[in-house]
Amino acid sequence: MAFFDLVSRQYVSSVEPKLDLVNVLDSHIGKGVYAVRPYPDHSVIGEITGEIFSGAYTGTSYTFEADEGNQLEPSEPFRYLNHSCEPNCEFDWLDEPSVHGEPAKSGLFLLALRDIQAYEQLTIDYSWPATFAIPCRCEAARCRGWVVAVEELDKLQLQG
Ligand SMILES: [Zn+2]
Repeated sequence: MAFFDLVSRQYVSSVEPKLDLVNVLDSHIGKGVYAVRPYPDHSVIGEITGEIFSGAYTGTSYTFEADEGNQLEPSEPFRYLNHSCEPNCEFDWLDEPSVHGEPAKSGLFLLALRDIQAYEQLTIDYSWPATFAIPCRCEAARCRGWVVAVEELDKLQLQG
């Protein structure tokens, strides 16, 4: 168990991505990632591994913007994270503490945005550009209707 320290913006104990902490199951919109135990708000769920490449979003199924100008295609299990307009998780870059004298390194981690119950589906906000928006079926109370970044929603409405 590791907790994210909002002041230092580092997580405070070492964390290994443990696949037994999440499970990939079928959801109403295809495969989804589910918690198999509770996660407190701000806790680190696991490290995201995968391929990072630079350039604009190209609309491939499992790719999304990892940070400004960089796209990420995550490996399993996190490639199956579904979008929600009210997500319970987010990705963030954290510094791993140095272990046994090894230099600290930076990694991309999945963090809980609120308390998460066991067996809840884990979701993130894909924040896709309007050009790649597709109708959203996340079933959140405040669903935007489209899988699209909040700041791109206006563009979509203008396109009609
Ligand atoms: Zn939605």
